Amino acid sequence: MQLKVLGSSGSRAPGFHASCLLIDDHLLLDAGTVSIALSLEDQALINDVLLTHAHLDHMVDLAFLADNMLGMRDQPIRVWGPKPVLDMVQEHLLNNQVWPDFTRIPNPENPVLQYCPLPEEGSVQIAGITVRWEQTNHPVFTVGYLFETEDDAFLYSGDTSDTEAIWKLGRECDKLRGAFIETSFPNRLGDLATKSGHMTPAMLENQLAKLDRDDVPVYIFHMKQQYLDELHKELAQLPHPSLTVLQGGEVYEI
Ligand SMILES: [Zn+2]
Ligand SMILES: [Zn+2]
Repeated sequence: MQLKVLGSSGSRAPGFHASCLLIDDHLLLDAGTVSIALSLEDQALINDVLLTHAHLDHMVDLAFLADNMLGMRDQPIRVWGPKPVLDMVQEHLLNNQVWPDFTRIPNPENPVLQYCPLPEEGSVQIAGITVRWEQTNHPVFTVGYLFETEDDAFLYSGDTSDTEAIWKLGRECDKLRGAFIETSFPNRLGDLATKSGHMTPAMLENQLAKLDRDDVPVYIFHMKQQYLDELHKELAQLPHPSLTVLQGGEVYEI
């Protein structure tokens, strides 16, 4: 799998884009940053969008992707996520008030977007990749995903505070080649991290012990940029042998 980091930040500012990974040019994982990261032609290559949850920094560009793709594609873009996630997108974003319902535009028979609701836990094949998921610890319904091909796999935590099930998925996967894990706030803001369903480097260290895969490179995303210097210092202290703080724009072959 080729992974392009279109955005790795916990918010938006010049040079900092919200969380978004492009897999093999065709599958978008979260939609924090796509309309300003890819040309229209490259946006038109996206056949599937998979959402971890319906917070704005993870779905906002679904609105602009849909708008941009009017007249650009013959087939709808499939939007995947557990049903509670897609229900929130439908109710609060593409609700014909905040933004048009692009599952009925230009017509209901061949719209720009098509919802593909998933159960709250399970597995599915998307774009030839086996995708499994588990709920994480966040104020709204949120999942982390495991992506598996025949030989390789990677884990994506989604937004989460201290959690369990997603680490078990990663720990038990023999072909795991990478783990993308959120860390948002510095250690001195542990209470805020817990209340908002996020992690500090100290909390990350506990999660890495549960994942128990020192053989697997870890990539950190969702940093709040106003704390970036502190986060870099604290993350550098962690004992994991391969830990990279993402900046956005990286490309990995996994
Ligand atoms: Zn969130
Ligand atoms: Zn977020």
